[in-house]
Amino acid sequence: MRRATLSLTAFTILISACSQDTYDPSHDYFSFANTDQFVTRHIDLDLTVDFSAEQLHGNAILHMDRIDPSATEVILDTRGLHISGIHVAVADGSMVPAEFGLGEDDAIEGTPLIISLPADFSPGSEFRMKIDYRTGPDASALQWLPPELTAGGKHPFIFTQSQAIHARSWIPLQDTPAVRITYSAIIHTPRELLAVMSANNDPLTPRTGEYHFDMPQPIPSYLVALAVGNIFFVPLGDQTGVYTEPEVLDAAAFEFSGTQDMLDIASELFGDYQWGRYDLLVLPPSFPYGGMENPRLSFITPSLLAGDHSLVSVIAHELAHSWSGNLVTNATWRDQWLNEGTTSYLESRLMEVLYSKDRVDEERVLGYEELMLNIETIDPVWQALAPQLDSGDPDSFQGTIHYHKGQLLLEYLEHAFGRESFDKFIGAYFEDFAFATITSEKFLDYLDENLLQVHQGKVSRSQVETWLYEPGLPSDAPVPTSATLEQAAAMALAWSQGELVLNEIPTGSWSPQAMRHFINSLPAELSDDELGQLDQALGLSVAGNAEIGRTWFIQVAKRQYQAAYENLEKHLNRYGRTRLVAPVYRALAENGSDLELAREMFARARGKYHPLTIASISRALQPASD
Ligand SMILES: [Zn+2]
Repeated sequence: MRRATLSLTAFTILISACSQDTYDPSHDYFSFANTDQFVTRHIDLDLTVDFSAEQLHGNAILHMDRIDPSATEVILDTRGLHISGIHVAVADGSMVPAEFGLGEDDAIEGTPLIISLPADFSPGSEFRMKIDYRTGPDASALQWLPPELTAGGKHPFIFTQSQAIHARSWIPLQDTPAVRITYSAIIHTPRELLAVMSANNDPLTPRTGEYHFDMPQPIPSYLVALAVGNIFFVPLGDQTGVYTEPEVLDAAAFEFSGTQDMLDIASELFGDYQWGRYDLLVLPPSFPYGGMENPRLSFITPSLLAGDHSLVSVIAHELAHSWSGNLVTNATWRDQWLNEGTTSYLESRLMEVLYSKDRVDEERVLGYEELMLNIETIDPVWQALAPQLDSGDPDSFQGTIHYHKGQLLLEYLEHAFGRESFDKFIGAYFEDFAFATITSEKFLDYLDENLLQVHQGKVSRSQVETWLYEPGLPSDAPVPTSATLEQAAAMALAWSQGELVLNEIPTGSWSPQAMRHFINSLPAELSDDELGQLDQALGLSVAGNAEIGRTWFIQVAKRQYQAAYENLEKHLNRYGRTRLVAPVYRALAENGSDLELAREMFARARGKYHPLTIASISRALQPASD
């Protein structure tokens, strides 16, 4: 996933650290499933997409292994599902009804589904269990969009977002990254619409209203994904292409035209691409994230369509997840840095080959600045890469720590051991743990054995433990620098001191990153008049680049520059990606006078946002004392 929520601030209020003695890092505290007794190997889905009822209904057949011969009860994760019947295959191959019941509801984790195996149950190496069900009205993975919230405005659209623990709201299953499954699916839709999944999409499939999918590689449940809408396809290369609504198709094909090159380079750098095709699905604006790395088919925000390829680092990020995350997966949400930190590192390696070291350094500096701001505000307990996470909402447990501190750890190791040795290590890591899930501790052991001990005297195990278990950054952590960003910052200062006039600033040759840094480097004491001159000269309020808009409107809100509030509200209505809107609301709420205004703007835009985005903004708009 690419940069989700704001920070861990709210999270620290929600969860409590548990005691040192009882915490088990290999246990998933966010699933009810008894995976020590039963493990799912494969799921067959047969689901009908009913737009008028806003419901998926049909069945899931789970192919399971009983690994504890004495176990007689299967516990699955659900949230809001209505279960109408469960059948289990018995010794003679027939399916017999099984008794089942729901356990106690939990606001975050949902409801355990407890199934008693029939008396004549006789498992072979694998047994089948068929669950008939339909989804509930508040299924947290599903966003049902009416036609007016799509680009075309004529057809409804639905997409899933299963990470972190939302797959259970549309499929009854063992919803933990510790279990990997293959799946097949038959999806019934209105005839004029197309369904796509994180599976073997056939770009030439005829529109019949019945679509068949197969995902032959085992994936964790959070990567099971579905979208249905007025979707069309354009190829970008032999293995790559883009799906989206026809109104957006040309812009998307132009913006992401480099995807095949990216895939070829990534395969050279990180090892063979294991997933067959790599396609993109560009979603309507309410998609809450920059991208979601659903295998074979990354889900992408339309806010990347800047018209100049300037935001394609998000594509590099999602593609890199094909190795870190999708191939080698974090065992639990507490180990998320293994997915996100490693992916951020791979993203910058890819961008360095595709663009330049300068561009990568710019991104690294901006990421570092976000990280340092985050470290100032969050509880030290959550500044460790691998803290003791046993309760709360894993969606809130996402922030710059996993992404940027994780990336810095890998950069630190690369510097210490040299790129050649480190690349060898990373390649072997992806090979040795392909299609496996691992904990931070397993990573540490592997690192120790295969890098630290092979080249002794460079980095000790306890130095790496400091990164994993201690707050802040170690004193010898790398500090990114960028000459171009330093120049932009110097010019911001020079202009504010009257030493430069606006038309002497070479913004035409600047990257969007340099422009963002320029905006962030403006001194606090600028008059409205000066901000107005700047806005007019640089076109900040009407920037086509969503990240420049984000950076500018955060400053607009902080500085209470009311002349730009109308455009600020337009920004909040144009984008649905959490990263682009939630910090602007937060800046308004915290500027000392605009909390009410922020709430009014939120009330007006709320209908366009995804529930995850709504949750994030709601946290930002709580009174400070909450
Ligand atoms: Zn990611």
